[in-house]
Amino acid sequence: MPTPLIIATRNAHKVQEIREMLPTFRILDLSTLPHAPEVEETGTTFHENSALKAIAISTLTQDLVLADDSGLEVDALGGAPGVYSARYAGDDGDAANNAKLLRELGQEKNRQARFRCVLTLAQGGEVLAHFDGSVDGKILSREAPGPGEAFGYDPLFAPEGYQESFAELGSEIKNRFSHRSRALSKLQSWLLEKPDFTTSHQA
Ligand code: IMP
Repeated sequence: MPTPLIIATRNAHKVQEIREMLPTFRILDLSTLPHAPEVEETGTTFHENSALKAIAISTLTQDLVLADDSGLEVDALGGAPGVYSARYAGDDGDAANNAKLLRELGQEKNRQARFRCVLTLAQGGEVLAHFDGSVDGKILSREAPGPGEAFGYDPLFAPEGYQESFAELGSEIKNRFSHRSRALSKLQSWLLEKPDFTTSHQA
């Protein structure tokens, strides 16, 4: 039976990506902990917010918990939206965030940006380790949606070496080198150095 790993997020896109990239775990979402509180992201860094989520959720279960805090940093906007990526335009969701980003950038020539991700693995309220990853790219001048339902800023972000947006490239290509997949491969290497870890941490 694969080791359960609870992803401390209500973002279905993150859970789906992590499930695709960590096939050796039984990936569970927060629906397995129906009374889990909404963890307030009061930190000012991806590290702090990732740890806040992992610690809070891991006090509610004996299973391993993985939290992801991630976002988009745009150079011409001084690193915004950064840790505020999810609610850049308030509570109105991805379409409003993307529209605000295009508005704020206007005709700006410097479109350089990066996605960043910090994962925190925790158990029983204790942080076991952090893993980070980033991917550089450019903000397009208009949305380039893909065939499926897009995640966050994916329709506006073309990773380095590509003209197409992450949304157009699709999950198979995105998952080869995204910020999240780079952080997840560090998690996998960490686990490989601890062969007993997953079995000894079975709840
Ligand atoms: P968090 O839930 O506070 O970590 O916020 C993450 C936010 O960053 C998401 O809601 C998206 O707006 C953005 N984001 C993070 N990772 C990605 C990605 O892979 N694609 C597109 N947007 C992302």
